[in-house]
Amino acid sequence: MDAPADGGPAADAAALWQLTLQHSPVGMALVDLAGRVTLVNPAFAEMLGRDADEVVGLHFAEVTHDEDLAEDTRYFQQALAGELDSYRLRKRYLRADGRPMWADLSVGVVRDDAGRLHHVLAQILDISEQHHAEQRLAAANAEIERERQSLDTVFETVGVGLLILDDEGRYVRMNRKHRETMNLPFPDGHAGAAGQLGHVYRLDGRTLLTREEMPSYRAARGEEFTDYRYWAGDDPLTRAAFTTTARQVRSPSGRRLGAVLAYQEITDLLRALEVKDQFVSSVSHELRTPLTAVLGHLEMLCEEDLPADVVQRLHVVRRNADRLRTLVSDLLLVAQAGEVGLEMHRLEVDLAMVVAEAVDSACPAAEAAGVSLAADLPDGLVARVDEQRVRQVVDNLLSNAVKYTEAGGSVRVVLRRVAGAVELRVADTGIGIAPNELCDVFDRFFRGGAAVEKHIPGTGLGLEVASSIAHAHGGTITVESELGRGSVFTLTLPI
Ligand code: ADP
Repeated sequence: MDAPADGGPAADAAALWQLTLQHSPVGMALVDLAGRVTLVNPAFAEMLGRDADEVVGLHFAEVTHDEDLAEDTRYFQQALAGELDSYRLRKRYLRADGRPMWADLSVGVVRDDAGRLHHVLAQILDISEQHHAEQRLAAANAEIERERQSLDTVFETVGVGLLILDDEGRYVRMNRKHRETMNLPFPDGHAGAAGQLGHVYRLDGRTLLTREEMPSYRAARGEEFTDYRYWAGDDPLTRAAFTTTARQVRSPSGRRLGAVLAYQEITDLLRALEVKDQFVSSVSHELRTPLTAVLGHLEMLCEEDLPADVVQRLHVVRRNADRLRTLVSDLLLVAQAGEVGLEMHRLEVDLAMVVAEAVDSACPAAEAAGVSLAADLPDGLVARVDEQRVRQVVDNLLSNAVKYTEAGGSVRVVLRRVAGAVELRVADTGIGIAPNELCDVFDRFFRGGAAVEKHIPGTGLGLEVASSIAHAHGGTITVESELGRGSVFTLTLPI
């Protein structure tokens, strides 16, 4: 398009127009009433991947994607018919290499001085990038929606109660399972904020949880926990037991957004454990009476004047019956501890004496095993404890120390007063305990790999008994150990 040759403002405007046309990043084309391109700027030619000369003379249908042609044509016809002065649409052009190009097309009709239509002016913006970005966004949104739907389904169908709290402990959402169990602890309804008190009891089934002990309150205060157990429901016959786990939810920047709690019902498990403890307790009870009679008679028999080989066999029988009695009373004790808690008969006792006696009675076994046994005890150390049970703990720690130490090793016992408590340390240079087994040694029937490998006899009950007794006194037993180097068991009892 050439500028008019006569100078003046009109010529300037035409030159300016020509300049804009040449350099505009927006594609421009003049199309005649037959739909053929009569003029095109470099931007549009470039969009189509062609030279400007090639584009001139083409019908717009030749550079339009098949799927968008009908709409484009309809608008064009309406403009020709004078129904539209301008229109705008999103369409695909076809580039010379066959690839489509998404464009935002604005069309305006050009009329002569008499108002007759003689051209249309098309302006074309390449929006391929934008279109692809929109498509990616739409795909990402669809994916998020799919994910949300799946999570929703999982949330509602899992057999575990789920509760989501916001950062102030308000209930944001709970699933069907949790909703179903809410009226056990809260028969009069729940206000939707963590920490509401209800019929929620500790595992003893009697003590109500305080606000600070309620799982939702703990989670709302930022705590995380696993396997927190309690009973819910007023009526002991219909109440249910739950184990709860809480995790905090944080934003990527670490800000606390709230917490999620998972509630799993474990009524059957706890009832089964109760039944098992009752069963073990009554079986041990029933075994103890005849065993006591057997042992009594054996003892009497051993005093009789009998042939040496008979006495020898009687000793074997007695030793085994003794082991059986220890086993049975250990079983009875752990069953009782699990069932009703241990009954304690506390008196003022000189612990130094108790330990000294236990060391004396361990001496023969230590000697037989070639293990040296030394004790460092104060002159007197009085505490209010159940003497018989504490003696049982000390005996157990000493016999383990001797049993799990090889010939040539040593066992050292130290009793001392520490702040508000007494502390008994039993240290040995024995086989030690593997790091991954340390947390299991106090579990019922647990036996360490090294003990089993070396065929050292045992039942795996002694340390559970010892720790039940320590706990019943409000104390603890801890262990430090290194495989092949030895172990230190520390009993701490508050005074
Ligand atoms: P038991 O000695 O009858 O097996 P315990 O409950 O007393 O049962 O001990 C549990 C396990 O802990 C033992 O089987 C053993 O593996 C480990 N253990 C206990 N005391 C010691 C010790 N002093 N040294 C090494 N291992 C020990």
